[in-house]
Parts: sequence; structure tokens; C-alpha cells
Amino acid sequence: MQILLVEDDQPLAQGLKAALGRQHYSVNHVDTGRACLHVVETEPPDIIILDIGLPDMSGLKVLESIRSRSPGLPVLLLTARDTLHDKVTGLDSGADDYLAKPFEMSELLARLRVLERRLGSVKSTQITIGPVVLDNSNQSVTCRGEPEELTRREYMLLKALMENAGRVMTRNTLETKLYSWGEEICSNTVEVHVHHLRKKLGTDFIRTVRGVGYKVNTT
Ligand code: CA
Repeated sequence: MQILLVEDDQPLAQGLKAALGRQHYSVNHVDTGRACLHVVETEPPDIIILDIGLPDMSGLKVLESIRSRSPGLPVLLLTARDTLHDKVTGLDSGADDYLAKPFEMSELLARLRVLERRLGSVKSTQITIGPVVLDNSNQSVTCRGEPEELTRREYMLLKALMENAGRVMTRNTLETKLYSWGEEICSNTVEVHVHHLRKKLGTDFIRTVRGVGYKVNTT
């Protein structure tokens, strides 16, 4: 799951980036509205966390632009102002949710899980496909009832594939779900994670689609 964090308060942004990274999100950070709109155009994320008070333009204006181009892209608004007026304006402008600063990390994570569930086909925190059960509320995976120890990236990769079951995911798309900008990626990194996942989950759970990428079948 790739998150674009739009926040000009650098200490807050760095703290959020680190905390979300520990929760199996890949997080990219920009600090202006213009940069946010550029990323939405060129490399759309799965979810946007958008601060209202940005240096170059209002977060609400940014939100309007996002909505006109990408109506389905989930946006969680952050603001220092916790007034009813701002909340109503934010939601009227098309925000999916709203969080007033200061907030608890656990609150942000809970809201993100709700937005994740609204994305695509996954309606619960638990995904079951064949023998594999992935539980996003505690980031655990079992196979045939046995708990499996997955690394952070293995979990992120498996989650991306299971959330998109039935669809082929390219290596490039999978890399963006696993790595933030600036993180070193080896050319065969996705292959290596798939190899390790197959050792843990069996060889045929993750299918190779030659020349394209990988998929998990829906049943
Ligand atoms: Ca701000």
C-alpha cells in the first residue's frame, strides 16, 4: 500500500513517515500542493494524507484538483483546526475522512485501515484465499492454520497480491507498493521476495505470469 504524505511540518512528516513505514506502508513525502498534484498525475498513490495548511496553496484547493482528476483516490485530510466549519468544508470538498492535529498514531492507523477496506475488493481486515489467511489488523499470516513469520517486505508484497487477487501485478507496480522514493531497489528484488514467500506458503500460491509479473488466484 503506497501512501503520499503531503505535509510541510518537517518534524511531523518525518515522524509519520517512520511510523507508517513500520506499519507496512510505503510512504512518499512532498511538502507543497503543487508537488502533490504532480505526483497524483505521474505516479498516483493508493491513499493521500493531505495537510490543509500548505505553504503554496490551500489543502482544500489541492483536494478539489485531485477530485476533478481522480474521483476515487482516497484522501485523509489533516488540519490543526478542529472546527465544525472546517470539517464540513473538508468533507464537502470530497475528503474521505478528516483528522484534527494533534492526533494519536493509533487513530490515524485505524482511519487508514477503513480507507484501505474501501479500496478495491477487500471489505474486511482479513483476507482468506485458499489455505492462506492474511490479517491486516495485526499484520499476521497463517497458512493451513499455522502462523508464518514474514519479513516486512514479504508481508507488503503478499498483501498487495492478495488484495488484487485475480489480477496480474507487474514487477514495477509491486515495487512501488514495497519501496518509498530513494530506497535502494535491486533489479530482482521482487523475485527474491516471491522466492521466499513460496518457501513459506507453497510453490503455487503465487503464480508467475511470464514477462509481466505475478498474481494470486481468487480461489
Ligand atoms: Ca501545515
